[in-house]
Amino acid sequence: MRVVKIVLPVPLDRSFDYLLPEDMAVIIGARVRVPFGKREAIGIIVGSSEHSDFPLSQLKKINHLIDQESLFTPTLWKSLLWAASYYQFPLGEVLFHALPVLLRQGKPAQEPPIWQWQITEAGKDADLTALKRAPKQQQALAALRHSHLYRHQISALDLNETAFQALKTKGLAQLQESYPAPTRWQDSFAINGERLKLNTEQATAIGAIRSDDKKFGVWLLEGITGSGKTEVYLSVLENILSEGRQALVLVPEIGLTPQTIARFRERFNAPVDVVHSGLNDSERLAVWLRARRGETAIVIGTRSALFTPFKNLGTIVIDEEHDSSYKQQEGWRYHARDLAILHARQENIPIVLGSATPAIESLYNAQSGKYHHLRLTLRAGHAKPASQYILDLKGQPLTAGLAPALLKRMRDHLQANNQVILFLNRRGYAPALLCHECGWIAECPRCERYYTLHQSQRMLRCHHCDSQKPIPHQCPKCGSTHLVAVGVGTEQLDHELARLFPDTPITRVDRDTTSRKGALEQHLSDIHQGGARILIGTQMLAKGHHFPDVTMVGLIDVDGALFSADFRAAERFAQLYTQVSGRAGRAGKQGEVLLQTHHPEHPLLQTLLHQGYESFARQAIEERKSVFLPPFTYHAIFRAEDHDNQQAPQFLQQLRELLETMRNQDAALWILGPVPALQAKRSGRFRWQLLIQHPSRARLQQILHTTREKITAMPQSKKVKWTLDVDPIES
Ligand code: ADP
Ligand code: ZN
Ligand code: ZN
Repeated sequence: MRVVKIVLPVPLDRSFDYLLPEDMAVIIGARVRVPFGKREAIGIIVGSSEHSDFPLSQLKKINHLIDQESLFTPTLWKSLLWAASYYQFPLGEVLFHALPVLLRQGKPAQEPPIWQWQITEAGKDADLTALKRAPKQQQALAALRHSHLYRHQISALDLNETAFQALKTKGLAQLQESYPAPTRWQDSFAINGERLKLNTEQATAIGAIRSDDKKFGVWLLEGITGSGKTEVYLSVLENILSEGRQALVLVPEIGLTPQTIARFRERFNAPVDVVHSGLNDSERLAVWLRARRGETAIVIGTRSALFTPFKNLGTIVIDEEHDSSYKQQEGWRYHARDLAILHARQENIPIVLGSATPAIESLYNAQSGKYHHLRLTLRAGHAKPASQYILDLKGQPLTAGLAPALLKRMRDHLQANNQVILFLNRRGYAPALLCHECGWIAECPRCERYYTLHQSQRMLRCHHCDSQKPIPHQCPKCGSTHLVAVGVGTEQLDHELARLFPDTPITRVDRDTTSRKGALEQHLSDIHQGGARILIGTQMLAKGHHFPDVTMVGLIDVDGALFSADFRAAERFAQLYTQVSGRAGRAGKQGEVLLQTHHPEHPLLQTLLHQGYESFARQAIEERKSVFLPPFTYHAIFRAEDHDNQQAPQFLQQLRELLETMRNQDAALWILGPVPALQAKRSGRFRWQLLIQHPSRARLQQILHTTREKITAMPQSKKVKWTLDVDPIES
């Protein structure tokens, strides 16, 4: 008997050995039911062997094989195996995560069969008159002699199931299941509507991708908002679809707008399936099945749509590729863009990354020739660029972090019956301590990095060297005692504005107000219908949407981004700023962008305002190179948390000591921490982290593998909740 290796959706990084029943085939990637502890569990077959590390007599037998073929396409299987290893996450959890919920629960991976009543040989020969005492049966048999009947047609024909069951008992009829053949969209495929006349840049971009669209290649399509990127995606898809191949389009969480979907639906006479948070489990499974059978031409969806199995995938498009929602921030912390590129390589197909503000990593890959770089610099529509103003906050009296000049402009825009958006990006920004009079910012003298303010501990802490000191009472530069934490929260701003503008409806869009299913859609429709006049949002609100009545955009907390200990804060700010200034004042109305800062002369602001995102990005790449930050090095963060404030740092300290033994042979390994997380306490747990950095990705992977094996043996690891974040995008 053979031994079968099975993974289960449990947080254990191993497979389990089971015995193969004699009449069962080994199908890698198929589900099985197995006894697990006291219950039965669903697992996935990952391999087989003649041997086990355990005595065969101790192994249990597989109960049941659920699938007759693998649930994963060969390329998806390879990508997921790779991803489990790269993100250092248990394979069982990765594979189950990639499946629709109903499949995780053991539901069949096929459309329900259609049942059909058929006549048997005995039924053909039987004497109808012999049934005259049972007229319904007689009628039913007569009908079957004429043709087979679908079970669901019976009642419409005034026949009943009981009669057919009786015929079955007599051996005169039988029930057959049948599966309809996949429907083919390719036969009726057509491109609809009048096509726009492409401008030269668009035509060049499309021509380049089309000429090379039979093999793997990454195309970075950098195009300002409204430059016609979606038009380029559509044209690339024209060719792919007319060859009968399918396409996957990934969009950010919030980018899934009805307008975007409508454009894909209108252009092609082909089925478009959309995967979004509003779908229920059976709708999700239906899309999964259709894609696998090749019945859908285009799947548009957020992050997890990447795991859709396609019969014949021809290309992947990632819109707003810089968007942070592509990174899963809990459990298996994969990055959908990075994984999509890997997957496109496995499939040997082109992948298009589109953005007005590409991620620094992507731009660097384009600079170094790994990606093809295509640019759209002209605005296709007729939106005018917004006017930009910097408001110097130094010494200004502030209300909820808002300067008088900003409040005044808000009133003007609201009175003109327009909408106002206030952006406040608190996520991932380490709060700094700043002097409101002169703009001085507390800085670690050893590292020349900004201290992070830990309000609850009343400490300033350097996230680089972990030195700390009490919060000072006075500014060392000008002597003022007016020292403030940079930034108010969205919630506080919401409260204050409700007081200042009692008659104006306010909507707040952030993680807290949109966590409930459907809440985001509700907020957005409120905004579109004009029910909300003041919109408060984090960067969630900046993407993919245009609200025609928004004429003013206020960026409330620019300093938080400029002086954050998180080196990605500046990049995120530059992206947000570029997105919103490209958006304010569409639909022919003049827009206005106001930035509040204590440092109007800051070089980043100046570069961004006067030279634009690309110059900013070039500068940022140089800076990161000079201080050994990604993409020039690779990061991983061990995060740990516990109710007791001693446990997590103790665990990470032990981990650090373990890592230090490796550093003795490898000086390129850097270990930073343990330090408290930016959000040092959440749901009653104290959160800490340890960052490790290495210039070689492969070497970092080795280090992580070794470390993770050893962690299991550390008693302290059982006491805390810990996770590993490979290529983190937030510190
Ligand atoms: P992006 O995706 O870069 O923001 P879109 O593709 O949505 O840009 O284009 C912005 C607007 O310009 C859309 O209304 C689109 O229909 C229009 N547009 C795009 N390309 C052209 C073109 N070549 N000629 C005229 N209008 C265009
Ligand atoms: Zn000062
Ligand atoms: Zn320091």
